[in-house]
Amino acid sequence: MSDAKRPLRQTKIVFTLGPATQSEEMLEKLILGGADVARLNMAHANHEWTRMVIKRIRDVSQKVGREIAIMMDIKGPEIRTGDVEVPIELKAGEEFDFTVRPGGAPGESPEEIRSVGVNYENLLNDIEVGDIVLVDSGLMRFEVTDKIDGRRIRCKVLIDGQLTSRRHINLPGVKVNLPAFTEKDRRDTLVGIEEGIDFVALSFVRKGKDIVSLREFLMENDSRAKIIAKIEDQSAIENLEEIINECDALMVARGDLGIECPLEDLPVIQRRALKACFDRGRAVIIATHMLESMIESPVPTRAEITDVANAVYEEADCVMLSGETTIGKYPIECVQTLDKIARRIEEEGDLAFEEPALLHGEKIDVLKSAVVLANQIKGSALLTFTRQGFMAQSIAALRPACAPIFAMTNAVSTLRQMRLLRGVIPFVMPLTSDPNDTIDNAIRLLVREGYVKVGDKLIVATDILSHDRLIDSIQLRTVHDN
Ligand code: PGA
Ligand code: MN
Repeated sequence: MSDAKRPLRQTKIVFTLGPATQSEEMLEKLILGGADVARLNMAHANHEWTRMVIKRIRDVSQKVGREIAIMMDIKGPEIRTGDVEVPIELKAGEEFDFTVRPGGAPGESPEEIRSVGVNYENLLNDIEVGDIVLVDSGLMRFEVTDKIDGRRIRCKVLIDGQLTSRRHINLPGVKVNLPAFTEKDRRDTLVGIEEGIDFVALSFVRKGKDIVSLREFLMENDSRAKIIAKIEDQSAIENLEEIINECDALMVARGDLGIECPLEDLPVIQRRALKACFDRGRAVIIATHMLESMIESPVPTRAEITDVANAVYEEADCVMLSGETTIGKYPIECVQTLDKIARRIEEEGDLAFEEPALLHGEKIDVLKSAVVLANQIKGSALLTFTRQGFMAQSIAALRPACAPIFAMTNAVSTLRQMRLLRGVIPFVMPLTSDPNDTIDNAIRLLVREGYVKVGDKLIVATDILSHDRLIDSIQLRTVHDN
């Protein structure tokens, strides 16, 4: 290898923040251990905690000299059961009611039929007899047998289970008419904007318009946060292309997808989503259960190793940790495990998808040539300059085989957003009005930090100034002394 800092890992790591990782000490270890994006799951966070941890992540990042990105994951439309005083034991074959008024109206159903409230009044309009209701991550399964008095859904229990308070409900294949961006989402996002988050991830995105309304909200509130669309149900799969067109990045949220869709479809959906994201030059995150067993165990299962490897072979931008880092016993080991697997698989090369179909235009053609050059010159690296990250995102979307993409920006907010992009190593430096000076400064920075050394080849994709005009250019530079 050409120097101590290479090979660099191309696949990025997202971790979810929780009790197991929120201390300064743990954050420091995770940031130095190579985590790229911290995710705040607003389903479990209050505003005071949110502000506190965002500030803490920024402080620790500054202290250790490595800025990571923060993703606020908002809940979106979600249906939940209400409170139950004591856990309800359910046996297959029994009848059970879901009522749209908490507890249901007294005397409405026979004494022997138990019930629980649901937080969504229009559920009766959306659901049909014969539909399946899944509760608590699919652990409990019901079939709708009747709709009574416009306020009760009578079901047959299909598998035994225990129902506790406020469990998440999935309705596979049912088109739910809840708003995409709820009041709670609005309040949460405003806090995120105030605290300067880098990404907003919208849960249960069903169509392109859902993203449009979030984007309008962000613009109205002067936020430059990028939008990650979480695809979690069948509607999202049906509208995948339009969702990808509207969002900045996609998350394959396998937790809910695995409940909402036939489970054997999951790998097919994952690969299709990845391919559709390449075509449109969007980043993609593979999420949930990547190292689930490591919540309790210091080593992953063999199947988990292969699942992570598969995401890397498929050239996802990021792999994500959830419970592993919120409540798990081995959060640092999880990041190390992802790091190790990603590096090993990246050495092997990819599954060779074709180049992005839908990226075209002169600018992209120039970048494509730069990537071809980088692929041909063994041991070379790409270097680009970007104010908002567009250049870096486009080059990353072209998936250079092994050359890292050094991306220089003048804004720390852009640097953080580039943490999501496969193969991109971002730096902050002044971008002067003279492109050639800027290139020289960048190369000096890379040498100083140990990323390149004298004799290394750099393919520089940038605008250069020629007779007062900016021209897209590719340069091949050899690193010289000073
Ligand atoms: P969640 O989303 O963790 O917010 O539920 C991820 C998933 O469903 O996979
Ligand atoms: Mn989910």
